[in-house]
Amino acid sequence: MFIDYGSVLAATGAAAAALCVTFFTNWLRQRSSGFLMTWACGMAVVVGAVVFFGLYEATLQRTFGAVACFFLTAAFAIAWGGQVQFRDGDLPLRPMVVLLLAASVPGAAIFALGYESIAYVIVNSVAAVLLCYMGWRFWQIRQESPAALMTIAGLHHMLGISFLLCAFAVAWEGHWQQEGMPQNWAEVLNLICSVIAITGIGGLFTTIYQERIARTYKVNSLTDALTGLANRRALYDEFEARDLPVDTGVAIFDLDDFKGVNDRYGHGFGDLVLIRFARLLEEETRPGDIAARLGGEEFCVISKEAGEGAFALAERIRARFMTIAHSRGERHMTCTVSAGVAIVEKDGCSLDTILRKADNALYLSKRNGRNQVSRSRRAA
Ligand code: GH3
Ligand code: MG
Ligand code: MG
Repeated sequence: MFIDYGSVLAATGAAAAALCVTFFTNWLRQRSSGFLMTWACGMAVVVGAVVFFGLYEATLQRTFGAVACFFLTAAFAIAWGGQVQFRDGDLPLRPMVVLLLAASVPGAAIFALGYESIAYVIVNSVAAVLLCYMGWRFWQIRQESPAALMTIAGLHHMLGISFLLCAFAVAWEGHWQQEGMPQNWAEVLNLICSVIAITGIGGLFTTIYQERIARTYKVNSLTDALTGLANRRALYDEFEARDLPVDTGVAIFDLDDFKGVNDRYGHGFGDLVLIRFARLLEEETRPGDIAARLGGEEFCVISKEAGEGAFALAERIRARFMTIAHSRGERHMTCTVSAGVAIVEKDGCSLDTILRKADNALYLSKRNGRNQVSRSRRAA
């Protein structure tokens, strides 16, 4: 055979070891991505399987072969756990252990009893089923990164089919008790597929993981850390390239005498009031509206409600806010808010322009005694 079996086995082990280190170092940088650690463990177990297959091949001691069989299927059960964690965030520890034992004990036990070929058929079939199942699940969640996840799904299926061919090849030969690793065309094909799949899947996951980090940074940079609302930058990003549609209603809110709230009740208490006001904005706005924190105790709502609708929305928020009792321990207080509303009345109105109009209206509310909503007088 033009490819030496031992060399390809060693190459598979080396690829798995390299991927184990890659997953582990990525996990060190981003510990919240626990699936990386799980897959690093899975890859370490693959390395263990390769080492024990090598030892079995060299010594023909059945214990080594049984351990290798156990490790091989255990690695795929761990990989399944990592897949669930990648998708849902939590490691399904108990189901993973049950799957690991159910998938790994029969093949290893039968191997240890001396029925190596039957064990090979079982181990290869279990590996094929687990790989094809994981491939199908990756296909189902391909939306996150379609090209990479579809390729990963394909690589899982390719590897799964190569394991199935190994099972067929052993069954076809029909020597139910044999010594040493079966060394047929299917085994060599399977090892080549393993090297391709391990390196390919590793590279693609690193890409997906980097994309996730970039997405998280982007979301964080556009989100107000205290309230979770969109921040000023998100608002300007949204309307940077396009003008606001005619009839859009814009309301700016500014909490009244907020400096006094901080001075009397403390900054932490003030933060809670800001968070409560943000929740109120979310409760009152509709899908498609944008609620943002412009900075400090200033907020903004951009809504499809025009004219009286936008004014009524701001008025509803103002009226509800003044009824909310803010408590911390023994401390209770209410707080009020003033607002200014402006409506986009003609095409070509920029965000800056409409915010300035709404701000002028807000100034009127402050000047007239606070806790009220005013309309912008001039058309925008
Ligand atoms: P007015 O009714 O005229 O709006 O009076 P005001 O006291 O609300 O206005 P001013 O602009 O003088 O004070 C705003 C205060 O908001 C001052 C600042 O300490 C407080 N503030 C800004 N950001 C935060 C924050 O993130 N948390 C807390 N607790 N306070 C904040
Ligand atoms: Mg202010
Ligand atoms: Mg204020």
